[in-house]
Amino acid sequence: MSILSQRFFHDEDAAFAKLESIVWPIGPVCPHCGCMGRISEIKGKSARRGLKFCGDCRKQFTVKVGTVFESSHVPLHKWLQAAYLLCSSKKGISSHQLHRILEVTYKTAWFMTHRLREAMRSGDFSPFGSDGGAVEVDETFIGRKKGVPVRHGYEHKHKVVSLVDRESGKARSIVVDQLNTKTVAPIVRENVAKEAHLMTDEAKHYVKVGREFADHKRVYHGSGEYGRGEAHTNTIEGFFSIFKRGMKGIYQHCGERHLHRYMAEFDFRYSERKCADAERTETALAGIKGKRLYYRQPE
Ligand SMILES: [Zn+2]
Repeated sequence: MSILSQRFFHDEDAAFAKLESIVWPIGPVCPHCGCMGRISEIKGKSARRGLKFCGDCRKQFTVKVGTVFESSHVPLHKWLQAAYLLCSSKKGISSHQLHRILEVTYKTAWFMTHRLREAMRSGDFSPFGSDGGAVEVDETFIGRKKGVPVRHGYEHKHKVVSLVDRESGKARSIVVDQLNTKTVAPIVRENVAKEAHLMTDEAKHYVKVGREFADHKRVYHGSGEYGRGEAHTNTIEGFFSIFKRGMKGIYQHCGERHLHRYMAEFDFRYSERKCADAERTETALAGIKGKRLYYRQPE
């Protein structure tokens, strides 16, 4: 026996039962009217698997309606395998590898990973450090912008601002077009509680906004400093190192249009890193609701 021998990874009925238990922990909810009371199963040879009927609005639905899995023709047990692989691989898993493992086309695998990234995207925007703890903020550069000549400096690279709440261990990343006070200060203001102890490097764009917090400690990397006591950015640098190894090693090509989804994936795995793989997968699957992607279906 291994974790991959579980029935819901192979059997479609078991896969539906598993997903229903995750999405509807206290019983089915009608995605059309939000009612729970008068839902019955539609059985019979011609009925779709998992089909339910809502006695309140008299509409039909399955657990996939209104989720990133809606109108996908990929069997649900393969979705569960894909979710498990993506959630349990520290640096991610490429669509090429998923295409070979799941025996779906590359294009399908690509769409599946993007939908799962969407499921991983956190709906929690509450500020970090609300308990008066330390929040590290830093930026990193990745890849290459289209049409921008490669020069010294970082102009031609994609820019990401990330925050790590040292207390909860959660990470949150935002893709920005430019790095300056105008772009960075609002991100810090919106995502960090006033009670927090802000930890950054010496970059200019943190100076003014830093005064709005209970404390702001700056590490002077330029003068070879790595930190003094609680004043350090080592946690966020650890996060960036996982992110960079994943982006370089697994996701070699990533367009600007999709970078925020990759960030959501790395934020999610990092934030949930203390859970077991199976639990982390269930958390991701619980996030499929209300996030249907409207781009073209490949299948
Ligand atoms: Zn209904």
